[in-house]
Amino acid sequence: SDIGSQKERVVTEEEWLQKWEMGNIGFHKEQGHPLLQKYLDVLLNGRSGLRIFFPLCGKAVEMKWLADMGHSVVGVEVSEQAVKEFFSEHSLPYCEEPVPEISGAKMFQSTSGNISLYCCSIYDVSSSIVGKFDGVWDRGALVAVNPCDRQRYASLMISLLEKNSSYLLVTVSYDPNKHKGPPFYVPESEIQSLFG
Ligand code: SAH
Repeated sequence: SDIGSQKERVVTEEEWLQKWEMGNIGFHKEQGHPLLQKYLDVLLNGRSGLRIFFPLCGKAVEMKWLADMGHSVVGVEVSEQAVKEFFSEHSLPYCEEPVPEISGAKMFQSTSGNISLYCCSIYDVSSSIVGKFDGVWDRGALVAVNPCDRQRYASLMISLLEKNSSYLLVTVSYDPNKHKGPPFYVPESEIQSLFG
């Protein structure tokens, strides 16, 4: 009964683009997420120069944090506005190029080369396009994915992981009968079955 109320709900890509256009982006955290600070050591595990993936990245400021620490950051975001705002709000020069493997997709890369943001649907990417990752910061991503797409999303994420990788996942806990989401309520038991 608990997740039943959200199971059929769908937010279309068009609706996400509209949220960005209207400035309905209450999910964006100007100051970055305290849980990344708290669990940074778990993500990095003493390693440097990692490849870190940001699925459904929006304009998350944590991408800048990690790039400034010397890691290489790759994000995927359907809104071109979000991607452009990320670079302009951090005064980062970038270049823009088509992604030959994905029709209509563009890749925006900081001139310094350490931040690459793909503007397309997450479901269009694969490890042959974006490579594999040592770490994933999943905040506002699994919980933003439509419930019917969760399995597909989780399988894709697993396919993008290097052998010794760390995956930090932020979920939200609340009564799904009281809010329609997103963010959706993803119970612990479902996370177990999705990621093992
Ligand atoms: N992770 C970010 C943004 C969370 S909101 C943060 O922490 O701030 C979810 C984001 O996913 C929105 O910016 C939305 O435009 C984007 N999005 C939604 N569906 C997507 C899809 N299928 N592929 C890529 N991006 C998507």
